[in-house]
Amino acid sequence: MRDMAAGPRVLLKRLRELMAEALAPQERLDRIVHDIAQNMVAEVCSLYVLRADSVLELYATEGLKRESVHLAQLRLGQGLVGTIAASARALNLSEAQQHPAFAYLPETGEEIYSSFLGVPVLRAGRTLGVLVVQNRTKRQYRDDEVEALETAAMVIAEMIAAGELAHLTRPGLELDLRRPASFTGISFNDGIGLGHVVLHEPRIVVTNLFNEDSDEEMRRLEQALGSLRLSIDDMLSRRDVAFEGEHRAVLEAYRMFANDQGWVRRLEEAVRNGLTAEAAVEKVQSDMRARMLHMTDPYLRERMSDFDDLANRLLRMLMGRGPDDVAAALPKDAIIVARSMGAAELLDYPREKLRGLVLEDGTVTSHVVIVARAVGIPVAGQVKGAVSMSENGDAIIVDGDEGTIHLRPQSDLEAAYAEKVRFRARRQELYRELRNKPSVSRDGVGIDLMMNAGLAVDLPQLAESGAAGIGLFRTELQFMVASTFPRAEAQEGLYRDVLDAAKGKPVTFRTIDIGGDKILPYFKNLAHEENPALGWRAIRLTLDRPGLLRTQIRALLKAAGGRELRLMLPMVTVLSEVAQAREIIDKEVRHLSRFAHHLPTSLKLGAMLEVPALLWQLDELMKAVDFVSVGSNDLFQFVMAADRGNTQLADRFDTLSVPFLRVLKQVADAGIRNHTPVTLCGELAGRPISAMALIGLGYRSISMSPASIGPVKAMLAELPVGELTKFFEENLAGHAANLPMRALLQAFADDRGIPL
Ligand code: PEP
Ligand code: MG
Repeated sequence: MRDMAAGPRVLLKRLRELMAEALAPQERLDRIVHDIAQNMVAEVCSLYVLRADSVLELYATEGLKRESVHLAQLRLGQGLVGTIAASARALNLSEAQQHPAFAYLPETGEEIYSSFLGVPVLRAGRTLGVLVVQNRTKRQYRDDEVEALETAAMVIAEMIAAGELAHLTRPGLELDLRRPASFTGISFNDGIGLGHVVLHEPRIVVTNLFNEDSDEEMRRLEQALGSLRLSIDDMLSRRDVAFEGEHRAVLEAYRMFANDQGWVRRLEEAVRNGLTAEAAVEKVQSDMRARMLHMTDPYLRERMSDFDDLANRLLRMLMGRGPDDVAAALPKDAIIVARSMGAAELLDYPREKLRGLVLEDGTVTSHVVIVARAVGIPVAGQVKGAVSMSENGDAIIVDGDEGTIHLRPQSDLEAAYAEKVRFRARRQELYRELRNKPSVSRDGVGIDLMMNAGLAVDLPQLAESGAAGIGLFRTELQFMVASTFPRAEAQEGLYRDVLDAAKGKPVTFRTIDIGGDKILPYFKNLAHEENPALGWRAIRLTLDRPGLLRTQIRALLKAAGGRELRLMLPMVTVLSEVAQAREIIDKEVRHLSRFAHHLPTSLKLGAMLEVPALLWQLDELMKAVDFVSVGSNDLFQFVMAADRGNTQLADRFDTLSVPFLRVLKQVADAGIRNHTPVTLCGELAGRPISAMALIGLGYRSISMSPASIGPVKAMLAELPVGELTKFFEENLAGHAANLPMRALLQAFADDRGIPL
C-alpha cells in the first residue's frame, strides 16, 4: 500500500533543511515554492502575501512568469486567491476557470493551467497570505496533498511572523501582520492606558516544528492527550465548589472535545505528516480559529473558544510548562489582555506595572472589574477579537472612556492619546486641588462622598482621593484572595489596619458576602445551585454557619475597641435576618465584656438593600436598623431580572431608566420619612451622571471607587441640587415610564455647564 504520508513528510524534511540554511529571504521563498512544486508534482507553486492595504501580492512563484513577482496583485475577496484569503478556507478545483470567482491575471501567464489548489497561510487564526499549486491537466488534489500544502503554509506563516519578509516589502506597503487594528467594546473603567500587550494566557510559541521520528512524536501526543483527559476527569470528579455551575458545564464540554474524534484525527494526521506534537496542535488550532472568525453563531463561537483553551492546555502539557512566572518578565507598562479573568488573578500582577486591562468578556459589575477599578487602571470589556489579534509585546492603547483598544497604533494616534493622557493628568491635578475642599453643591448642599474598599492595598487611596470615609468595606475580598479561611487574628489585623488608616473617618464593614459569583475554592460542601445569585449566599449563608459570622464579628469588635464600629449585612430579605444577626452581635459583645475587652464606643448596624422584597417593608426596615445602604449592583439585577454577570444583557437595561429611578427615590423618601440615613454603594455612585441623579433623588451620602471621587466632586461643585430635585418632581412622578431619562439628565448637565 502506498504510504499517503510519505509525500508530506519528505516535503517537510526539505522545508526544514531550507529553514536552517543561511539564505536571503527572497531566495529562501523561491527555493520553498520550487521544492513544494517539485514534491507535489505541480507545474506551478505561488505564494501571495497579504499587505496592510488588503492587497495580496505575489511574493514568489515557480512556474508563473518571474517578472510578475511583487507586481501581480489581487484585492482581498478578488479572484480565487482573494476568496481563499477572505474566507480562510482552501479551494480545490479541477477546472479553475469555471469557478465564478476566477480572475485572470495576464501578467502571470497562468491561463494554461486548469487545476488549482490554494490554502490560506494562517497564524493564530489570522490570514497572512495564500499558497497555491496549479497543474495543466484536470485533476482533483488528494486530501494528503491538501494537508501537505497546509503544513507548508504553516511553515511560511512562522517565517512571516518572525519578520523575515519585512525586507522584501516596499515602503508604505507593510504586511498585514503588523497592521494597526482597533476594536470597540464597552467602557468598564475610565482612563487611558498606553503600554504593551501581556496576554494573560500567553500564547505558547512553538519553535520546534518538525519531528525527527513520527512514531515517537505520536506517542508524545497520545500521552499528552491521555493526561489532558485525566486532568479533566479529575477536576470533574472533585465535588469542589469552584467546579460547579457554569464552570462545570465548561469542563463537561472540554471532556467532550478532548475525546472528539475529528480533532484527535486531525492532530494525528499532522504528526504523521512530520510535525512535532506541539506544531500539530498549533496548526489544527490555527485552522479552527480562522474558521471561527467567520462564524456568527454565538454558541458555536463560544464552543470554539473552549477548543482554544483546550489546545492551550495541551500545549502546556506537551511543553511541560507550569504557570509562568509572569511578574519577572512583565514590561513596566503592562496592559493585560484576557478572555476573562478572576479577581485574584489580576492581583497576581505587580500593581505598579499595570497600565490597563482588556477583556473579551466580563461586565461592569464583575469582580475582576471591581478590583481593577480599585487598582485604578482603565478597563475595556467585551472587546471581541482582542486576544487572537494581539501578540505579547505589541504596542497597545486602552481607551477606558470609550471602551476601545488600538493595537499597534500609528504614531499620530499615539501622539493624540499621549496628549489626552497629559490632559487627564492636568484634570487629575484639578481633582487633587479639590481633594481638601468641602464636597458641596453649587447651591450649598453638602454630600458625603465615600469610597469603596476591600483590601489593604486600597487604604492609601483614602487620603489620596479625599473621600469622607469608607462607605463599603467588602470583607469577603480578604477571603477571596486567600487559599484557606483567614484566621481570626488575620481578620482582626486587617480591620484594625483599616480603622487606623481611616484616622477617625467613618468606615462601614460589610459582613462577608460570599456565594453567588463570589466563590471560595476552599469552602467545601457547597451544593450545586441552579441559580447561585438567588441562592445560598451572603447573610443567608453566614446565619446558617454562625461560626463564620461569630468569628468575624468578634474580630471586628476587637479591632474597633475604643472607636465607632459600623457594620452592615448583605442581601437582607426579611427582617428576622437582621434580628438574628443582632442576637449574634449582642452575644459577642457580652462575651467580650465578660473578659474585659476594650469595646467599640458605639455600634451601628445597617442593612444592605439589594433584594426587592425589602421595598415593601421599608418603614419597618428603617426602624429595625441604624442605616440602610443600597447595593445597586444586586438591586438592579433583581429588579430587572437581569444577571449582572451576563455579557449579553450588559447593555440591555438602563440604570437611569424611569422604573429604576423610581425605586431609588422610594428608598430615599423612606429614609427621610423615618429619619434613617440612607446611602448607596453600588457602581452607580461612581459615574458623574448617575451620581448627579442620585443626589437629585435625595441621596446625601454615596460610596464609590476612589478614582471616581474627583470627577463626582467636580460635578457636584457645579450642580444646583434644588433645580434637579424639581426636575425629578416634574418628570419622575408623571405618566411617562419610557421618558429617555439618561438623555434628559445629560441635557440638564450640558445646559448648566456641569462636567460629567
Ligand atoms: C451591590 O450589590 O451593589 C454591592 C455594593 O455589593 P457587591 O457588588 O459586592 O455585590
Ligand atoms: Mg451586592
